[in-house]
Amino acid sequence: MTVQTLPARYRVASRAAETHDTVTLGLDPVDQPIGPHLPGQFTMLYAFGVGEVPISISGSAGPGLVQTIRSVGAVTRALCEVDPGQVIGVRGPYGTDWGVADATGHDLVVVAGGIGLAPLRGAVLAALTAREMYRRIVVLIGARSPDELVFATELESWREGGAEILVTVDRATAGWTGHVGVVTQLIGRAQLDPAAALVLVCGPEVMMRLTARALCEHGVPPGNIRVSLERNMRCGIAECGHCQLGPLLLCRDGPVVSYARAAPLLSVREL
Ligand SMILES: Cc1cc2nc3c(=O)[nH]c(=O)nc-3n(C[C@H](O)[C@H](O)[C@H](O)COP(=O)(O)OP(=O)(O)OC[C@H]3O[C@@H](n4cnc5c(N)ncnc54)[C@H](O)[C@@H]3O)c2cc1C
Repeated sequence: MTVQTLPARYRVASRAAETHDTVTLGLDPVDQPIGPHLPGQFTMLYAFGVGEVPISISGSAGPGLVQTIRSVGAVTRALCEVDPGQVIGVRGPYGTDWGVADATGHDLVVVAGGIGLAPLRGAVLAALTAREMYRRIVVLIGARSPDELVFATELESWREGGAEILVTVDRATAGWTGHVGVVTQLIGRAQLDPAAALVLVCGPEVMMRLTARALCEHGVPPGNIRVSLERNMRCGIAECGHCQLGPLLLCRDGPVVSYARAAPLLSVREL
């Protein structure tokens, strides 16, 4: 397989605000598109003259990509501020995927915290397009507040497509009638069949650690839990070593890793 090391040009076809600091970009290839990708994989997005960062692929639209970006620093700010018509660079796709089809005949369970729903969106959409392959599709979402919920306008169509969706917020605001509390509290409410569930988890590292522990306490084997690990990445092609975590180079061996393998590494802080 040829590894793409130079950015391909993509034109911003659409830009939609998800929250006050997060946007979803629709990106169309200007020349040759990057290769085929699977839910959970990421690209290196290059804001010309500013820098390059890893961003998960949150969906696809024909030959185009959908990517959801939270503005936290110089590069993500520049990417969040692009206007339709502007061109950015894209390398990839890189890394491991969620392996959604491994849940065939079983329950697919997705647990997301905040922007962690972005890498999982493609997994949910892929499962919904083959709804009959899965017994249940369960999506558990935690956000800091109702205003910080990403893809809020899509959730109803996911429900209509056959997903069971539970949402909780840390802090309710006026008008919120849903659940308040951390996302781990939804695990009991979802009445999972621990022996028949493949669980995909993405969010802040502390959330993934606590969620995975709670799932194990509910009887889900660690090998049936997958987490998406983040470390600073530079090259994306396992050359530079920036994203090393224990024995793993996360741009190649991750970001999606079985919790059975990730558990001892989740307590290692990035320098
Ligand atoms: C595989 C992978 C997939 C990702 N997918 C997405 C995505 O879909 N959407 C999205 O918004 N972000 C995603 N990220 C995180 C994103 O890459 C970082 O937010 C970005 O690199 C920050 O760069 P910056 O120049 O804007 O900010 P910087 O100035 O580099 O950092 C600003 C702040 O963010 C922290 N930070 C930087 N990189 C990371 C990181 N990798 N993880 C956690 N904190 C970080 C820094 O410590 C600092 O506090 C992903 C990261 C990885 C490794």
